[in-house]
Amino acid sequence: RIMNDIKKGIQYAFQTSNNMTLAMSGSGHTAMECAVFNIVEPGESVLVAINGIWGERVAEIAERMGAKVHTLFKTPGGHFTNAEIEQALAKHKPVLFFLTHGESSAGLVHPMDGVGDICHKYNCLLLVDSVASLGAAPILMDQQNIDILYTGSQKALNAPPGTAPVSFSERACHKMFNRKTKPVSYLLDMTHLSNYWGNDGKPERIYHHTGPVSGFFALRESLAIIAEMGLENSWSHHTEIAEYLWKGLEDLGLKLFIKDKDLRLPSVTTIAIPEGYDWKELLAYIMKHHRIEFTGGLGPSVGMVLRIGLMGYNCNKANAAMVLAALEDALKQCRKSKA
Ligand code: PMP
Repeated sequence: RIMNDIKKGIQYAFQTSNNMTLAMSGSGHTAMECAVFNIVEPGESVLVAINGIWGERVAEIAERMGAKVHTLFKTPGGHFTNAEIEQALAKHKPVLFFLTHGESSAGLVHPMDGVGDICHKYNCLLLVDSVASLGAAPILMDQQNIDILYTGSQKALNAPPGTAPVSFSERACHKMFNRKTKPVSYLLDMTHLSNYWGNDGKPERIYHHTGPVSGFFALRESLAIIAEMGLENSWSHHTEIAEYLWKGLEDLGLKLFIKDKDLRLPSVTTIAIPEGYDWKELLAYIMKHHRIEFTGGLGPSVGMVLRIGLMGYNCNKANAAMVLAALEDALKQCRKSKA
């Protein structure tokens, strides 16, 4: 019953009626590997949009399992137009296209409208990572024609790390359940997982692996909380707090890394490293004197940005104000120490 409740909660959070909806036993990476391993067969073409670390990771995962990997590339902060995506789909004819909705290494929320339709025009499935964005920025799986969507438990959902919601469309199921070869991973084989989650229509659920039951209880509660609050309220709450933070940062004379407000990820704010400052010194000062952990960039955005995460339970004005005060102090003190 707990697993059935989780399935319903994910269907609501993802805005999907997909039957093949479940939670992985593992963190966001587990869902990432599950999607690639089950959808793609060795030798098939995959197109990966890289505009930060997550595309890089998926490209590597696909390469390791023997896919022919093509990439669309932008430096962190960049995004892809539908025309660019269509051109690459026409050229490479991939079976799967990967796009990150909330690029947490760059602080970018990627536009999703129309991408699913373009993919289907080229007979390609659309895989989307919403680990950092689900619950914080709108994503509508069915309406946006997304074939495989996954997220993590520990971001805006507030559950402990260790479980990862994922959902597959009918099209995705057709591809993954009619493959010639078995997926490289036994643990992540959707034939077994769909039975384990009661999604395969068989009367009996058979032991496959030991699920993280405490994590599942927590995930169920976090999905219930977001359903009670309502997705629209969760999205607007994250936007309201993010806008308060962005204004405060600009008042401090800082530059936000993502210039276009509509492309900023509300849950992860990126600040361009202020001129004349050593970003590591700023972070160390804030940790030492304010006991707050800011972070620098991740993967290709290292040395480009400072990052502030305000998501789920943590996302409130008091925390944003605390972060702003810490940063204001660090900007004064660190500059002084250099003079
Ligand atoms: N994708 C995105 C966008 C993320 O932000 C993260 C985690 N920072 C992941 C994937 C990986 O998730 P996990 O750490 O839970 O494996």
